[in-house]
Amino acid sequence: MREACGVFGVVAPGKDVAQLTYDGLYALQHRGQESAGMAVSDGQSITVVKDMGLVTTVFDERTIACLPGVLAIGHTRYSTTGASEWRNAQPVFRGVGSAGFALGHNGNLTNTADLAEEAGMLPGVVASDSDLMTELLAVALADAGPGATGPLGGGPLEGALRAVLPSLRGAFSLVLMDEHRVFGVRDPHGLRPLCLGRFGPAEAPEGWALASESPALDIVGATFVRDIAPGELVVIDADGPRSAVLWPDGEVDPHLCIFEFVYFARPDTRLYGHEVHGARRRMGELLATQRPVEADMVMGVPESGVPAAEGYARRSGIPYGQGLVKNRYIGRTFITPGQKARADGVRRKLNPLRENIAGKRIVVVDDSLVRGTTQRAVVAMLRDAGAAAVHLRVSSPPLMWPCFYGIDIPDQQQLVAAGRSTDEIAAYLGVDSLEYLTLEHLVEAIDAPGAGFCSACLTGTYPVPVPVAVRTSTDRTVSATSPVGA
Ligand code: SF4
Repeated sequence: MREACGVFGVVAPGKDVAQLTYDGLYALQHRGQESAGMAVSDGQSITVVKDMGLVTTVFDERTIACLPGVLAIGHTRYSTTGASEWRNAQPVFRGVGSAGFALGHNGNLTNTADLAEEAGMLPGVVASDSDLMTELLAVALADAGPGATGPLGGGPLEGALRAVLPSLRGAFSLVLMDEHRVFGVRDPHGLRPLCLGRFGPAEAPEGWALASESPALDIVGATFVRDIAPGELVVIDADGPRSAVLWPDGEVDPHLCIFEFVYFARPDTRLYGHEVHGARRRMGELLATQRPVEADMVMGVPESGVPAAEGYARRSGIPYGQGLVKNRYIGRTFITPGQKARADGVRRKLNPLRENIAGKRIVVVDDSLVRGTTQRAVVAMLRDAGAAAVHLRVSSPPLMWPCFYGIDIPDQQQLVAAGRSTDEIAAYLGVDSLEYLTLEHLVEAIDAPGAGFCSACLTGTYPVPVPVAVRTSTDRTVSATSPVGA
């Protein structure tokens, strides 16, 4: 599973906004590693620098030094729509008359084809959601004219956003900018996160920042102020932020992606008022109560399974131990296609601590079970190292449905839990027992009473309707005969 993108924005006259954007993007690197970019305004014109690769590959000291400005937006991308190529890197810039704007998007629209058709665009002209939104905004800007503005004092771009946003369906956390302002928008379901931070004291702010996750604010020296609300448009200029909720009450229906808590977000990220790390520990604690097992050691699959494993050990009283060492320099296992190549990738990444494992009954905790590749390879390693028993505990419910809101989940045939019983999966993985955290316990662990979540990939219930054409655009039919995990 891969997150789609990270976005960042800053308005801070007198500060090095390009350096701040670089630092913010670096903190959000886990949300997208294919391309990175930033757009910087000096108050007169916008300069965009973007390229394929990691933030540290795209930018160096010389590039940053050549980007003086008073405000900026930035983007790290992993493609869930549109190819992984330069022209789809963000921010996307568009000039309209003598002015221009830039846009960065985290999420996935579900009505791209309809919007393109309604706008009279030829099939294939729009390569990505960000391209489409840019086109629509450019047309709205041209229609409105250069003197237009909105009630928030956001100039013509605010008017264009108010004209275009209501027609968008799906997930969109956006940062945008013109020469004078940065804008932040969250879709009315708030599927992807976005938060606001402040530089300097509350009584005398020195600037403002927007970020997909709060650690990006910490790292640039900004103070977390609040989450941008679902359906909210924020306009930030030298006078500070002003905002309004654009959608009517009945259409604002918060459904933050529950997998941000399980896996995507950094452990130090604040969501719904809590650090994610604490929620992951509580997931492990509740998992320990669901199906107790006699064992000698609890271990987490590095690194994302570790907080839940610590929680499991604390609640069960079974000692926590390290069973695997992770190679710190290895790339992501999912880069390599094919099941065998992925399994080999796991072996290159993880190696067992044999003296810790031999003769012990082990509880292995992982955050999620996708193809089962990692867990199957880990179980084989532990058995080879002499484990007396291996019990797998997963700190999220079975993943069985695709995501249409900006997360790359493998096709349904490749999801090990789709259409198979827990016993079948346990046999395939080679474990003595298998247990998933229930959805009720997952929500309890997050500890945000009254908060809304999207859990569509766990339940098949999609909070934003997904048109049939989109659902069937990829081959995601469960096949009882497809080999498990293939
Ligand atoms: S379908 Fe799953 S991954 Fe996608 S937004 Fe919903 S909870 Fe997140």
